[in-house]
Amino acid sequence: MGYPFNQKTYIMTTIADRLANAQQRITQAAKFSSRDANDIQLLAVSKTKPNSDIIAAYAAGQRLFGENYVQEGETKVKELKSSCPEIQWHFIGPLQSNKTKVVASQFDWMHTLCRDKIALRLNDQRPDELKPLNVCIQVNISGEPSKSGISPDELMALADTIAPLPKLTLRGLMAIPTATDDIQTQKDEFQQLQNLFLKLKASYPDVDTLSMGMSNDLEQAIAHGSTMVRIGSAIFGQREKSLTA
Ligand SMILES: *Cc1c(COP(=O)(O)O)cnc(C)c1O
Repeated sequence: MGYPFNQKTYIMTTIADRLANAQQRITQAAKFSSRDANDIQLLAVSKTKPNSDIIAAYAAGQRLFGENYVQEGETKVKELKSSCPEIQWHFIGPLQSNKTKVVASQFDWMHTLCRDKIALRLNDQRPDELKPLNVCIQVNISGEPSKSGISPDELMALADTIAPLPKLTLRGLMAIPTATDDIQTQKDEFQQLQNLFLKLKASYPDVDTLSMGMSNDLEQAIAHGSTMVRIGSAIFGQREKSLTA
């Protein structure tokens, strides 16, 4: 096949190694910004990937996993409950109001809250025996119409709706900035997000999560205060294009 398959290539492409490499990138980026790497969590984004990949990452010590699709996420949560009991599940995809019940009952975190109606439904549907659902407000920082998220000027109103709800805990902000290799654009958008996060924190001092940074831009995100990077392809390899969110 001409593929350079040898011992070294094999070792470099295991999930455990790529996970360690992602952790190393986080450590380096934190150091570069004089931050404590322990203040930055790694969320492993396992969408479209099989349970065996999640189990491999779990065996290597990973505990936070992110899923984008309600049905796929629900299946994985249920199937992995006994083999990976310590997983903390994060929902990071767009959520329609008719599917809120699954997220309210199966997940620990929800990163993509951008409507009052969804917040109220999640609060109503969160089972009493579970701790409040941790939520982040998704901000559309680039203003691209194709992207979900509120505009920055809607932030405080949505935060004011969420804050009093007993079964939700407002943890912070999440964003998916413009996909670009242009460093200046990345910096500008991350800077705006950091400013918004500080504004939110001024009114709600308990918020502690700025969910931003992915495989290609985690260094810039960490330089601008990210506390949770969401890493998919750098750990699990490329996804099938048609399934990429
Ligand atoms: C897919 C996805 C990621 C991971 O993206 P990679 O570039 O593969 O690291 C992070 N966040 C969200 C919201 C995603 O949908």
